[in-house]
Amino acid sequence: MSQDTRDPFTYALSSNSAWAGYKSHQNPDFFPRLASGQSPSILWLGCSDSRCPETTILGLQPGDIFVHRNIANIISPTDINTSAVIEYAVAFLKVKHVVLCGHSACGGAAAALGDARVGGVLDTWLTPLKAVRNAHADELAAIRDDKARAVRIAELNVEAGVKVLMANVVIQDHIKERGLQVHGTLFDIGSGRVRDLGHGTGKPRAAAFGGGGAGDGEVIRGRHATLVFRSEGAGMQAR
Ligand SMILES: [Zn+2]
Repeated sequence: MSQDTRDPFTYALSSNSAWAGYKSHQNPDFFPRLASGQSPSILWLGCSDSRCPETTILGLQPGDIFVHRNIANIISPTDINTSAVIEYAVAFLKVKHVVLCGHSACGGAAAALGDARVGGVLDTWLTPLKAVRNAHADELAAIRDDKARAVRIAELNVEAGVKVLMANVVIQDHIKERGLQVHGTLFDIGSGRVRDLGHGTGKPRAAAFGGGGAGDGEVIRGRHATLVFRSEGAGMQAR
């Protein structure tokens, strides 16, 4: 097997090995507990963008979030993929929060704003976002700054997506039966902050949708170790 860690996949495997060793060292129960089952409290619906990894940006852990991500976090009522994830997370896993998250500098938003053909199935996929753009054409055209315009269409896309979520019968039933909460949010890549836009069941809060996870309120004080990333591969230094 090649040990050339300049290859991204080889490096990723070496990084995974270091991470798994680090987590086990820090908390020997971590993986056995993870393997015993999942009870995430959040369903995250976000963009596939590599800069928006939900568990990482929320500072949470494997097991905390059930996830569906697609290009430009488009929530379409006829998309069976999104619908199946929602149904499983809400009706079976009984998550407490459904979080739809858009983000700044979204390529899908830029494509919809530019109205250029991307090609293949992508133009079809982006159709709902283009409809959002058309519905708010005047407001968007009045925004001179390109970045600000992209943020605004991302916000409008989240608002439209939350409306689709609130019309989902599974979500409606669980809001009534057990107080399921639905949130629309936006991740600002430039600052790393997730902002609650106040759509859905909740009002904007500074400390958004926290709590309720398997490790809620639990601080695990494990043995100290440091993850070290070198060009020749990643590793762990235990103390
Ligand atoms: Zn995106």
